[in-house]
Amino acid sequence: MKKKQQPEQFYLYPNKLVEEVFHSTTEGIMITDGQMHISLVNAAFELVTGYSMDDVRGKNPRILQSGMQDASFYKNMWNELNTKGVWRGEIWNKRKSGEIYPELLSIASIVNSAGEVTNYFGVFSDISRKKVIERELEELTLTDQLTNLANRSTFKESLNELISFPQSPKHKHALLFIDLDRFKHINETVGNDVGDLILTEVANRIKLIVKEKNIFARYGGDEFLLTLNDIHHQKEAAYQAKEIIKSLNKPFYIDGNEIYITSSIGISIFPQDGIDAEKLIHKADKAMYFAKQNGRNQYAFYFEELKKDSKRLLLLEAELRKAIQTKEFHIYYQPKISVGNQEIIGVEALVRWENDKLGNVSPGEFIPFAEDTGLIIPLSELILEKVCLDIMDWRSKGILHLPISINIASLHFQQDDFMERINAILVQYNCSPSQLELELTERTVMKDAKDIVNKLIKLKNMGFKISIDDFGTGYSSLSYLNRFPLNFLKIDSSFVQQITSLKDKQAIVDCIIMMAHRLHIKVVAEGVETKDQVKLLKEMDCDIIQGYYYSRPIPSSELLDFIELWEIHKQERNV
Ligand code: C2E
Ligand code: CA
Ligand code: CA
Repeated sequence: MKKKQQPEQFYLYPNKLVEEVFHSTTEGIMITDGQMHISLVNAAFELVTGYSMDDVRGKNPRILQSGMQDASFYKNMWNELNTKGVWRGEIWNKRKSGEIYPELLSIASIVNSAGEVTNYFGVFSDISRKKVIERELEELTLTDQLTNLANRSTFKESLNELISFPQSPKHKHALLFIDLDRFKHINETVGNDVGDLILTEVANRIKLIVKEKNIFARYGGDEFLLTLNDIHHQKEAAYQAKEIIKSLNKPFYIDGNEIYITSSIGISIFPQDGIDAEKLIHKADKAMYFAKQNGRNQYAFYFEELKKDSKRLLLLEAELRKAIQTKEFHIYYQPKISVGNQEIIGVEALVRWENDKLGNVSPGEFIPFAEDTGLIIPLSELILEKVCLDIMDWRSKGILHLPISINIASLHFQQDDFMERINAILVQYNCSPSQLELELTERTVMKDAKDIVNKLIKLKNMGFKISIDDFGTGYSSLSYLNRFPLNFLKIDSSFVQQITSLKDKQAIVDCIIMMAHRLHIKVVAEGVETKDQVKLLKEMDCDIIQGYYYSRPIPSSELLDFIELWEIHKQERNV
């Protein structure tokens, strides 16, 4: 018969099976004698704490204390141990490495027949992983996982808290609704991973600008919300908005890509625009949309008329869809005049839309809207079809080789089957790419330069001419553009219109023309309205002029008259 073991012998001289269990269990075990000298620890203890049996033999378990619990904690623990014989709880201890960690610990006292404590027996498990998960879960509901900013619901709560404080009548708070322009397309171009990195970097840049006390959150997708607490004047909000836009305009260098983004910001003010979070966010959102409609890369304050505007937007979307179905658009053409020989060397096709309910809608309004809603693709194809029909019509009237520029929207250009689709339309109408110039904005070609160079080379090989539109409004340098196979560069009208009054604008245009010529690219000045501008541009050796000075955009029938008259006048001029 087996001899009954004394408790102390049991722990110090375990039999084989118990020893196996003792060492293989994943929970740490520590046994001390009655005076709290460690007498035995198992393998899991060594693993979790980093101390070996030799390190701790004879020592007091105090060596594991992290200092996270105060004296009263240990007092309560000992009280319970002494009265109930067991204690169980969460405790922060310290590993040999100095790292502190949470553990779930059970301690039991072993008492001999005389009622004296002979041993203490502690079993614990490292719950740092569990804690991490708990914290993550907690944060998940409070913060945005990607940027670590507050999330939508935390933001609303904090904002409501902020505005529920008693306010001095002088103090206002501003709410900024920050939205990245065309971020969906950037994401599609560079991929979601890079998109995520951009969003994180955007959050970091804004954090650097704003004060700690302001509430900053990611509202979702590419939208951020920011409060400016206790401002005295709206001007302060405008200043901050400008700073944010400026800082986001700087290039993002991610994974070898140089990425440019712009942002639009809407601003609402507490208390004048609303006294609860819902309303303030709603109005800042409306103002943001207005900023986008107005051309993006800018901020706007909420104003009452926007209420009506939101109805217009709903109508715009519905009507635009219908108009594409019913092909309600017209194409106007604006002549381009060669400076050297005064010939009409081509025309730019510009879309026009007159709608029963909305009246004349400017392409400046509906093109960005169509880009945001994806309607730009069917719309662009429709425009190309209409241009082809006009080419056929002109051909029948003896005008055979008039080059036509068409504006290519970024999203349209990014489609994988862009080339096949436009080529199919040209084939259908028996039109040749050699008669067409594709106008792409600087921002479109900057998006993913490598792919774009290949695409442009293919287009050029197909016979299209390539033109960079709105040059000077993006951030590309001319030497950068050298990589693209360009035929024309169009200097943005904002420069042209100031060349006669601002010397620096004149210097910029002068420099653009010189450098473009060195790269064998012809320069078009657009938005030319006055004789003085024409004169100056001529002196600067600009190649082509387009603008109201010669003609506004006109429908096809008027264009035919214009061409005829131009020829007559030219002959008269030559006589
Ligand atoms: P854009 O490509 O820069 O076109 C030039 C704009 O300047 C046109 O405005 C034109 O009417 C206007 N313009 C021409 N000469 C002058 C001038 O001397 N002074 C002033 N102040 N303006 C002048 P529009 O037609 O309202 O078009 C605005 C923008 O909408 C265009 O800018 C282009 O980005 C877009 N757009 C127009 N038609 C199309 C189209 O068929 N497809 C696409 N994707 N975009 C288009
Ligand atoms: Ca254009
Ligand atoms: Ca332009």
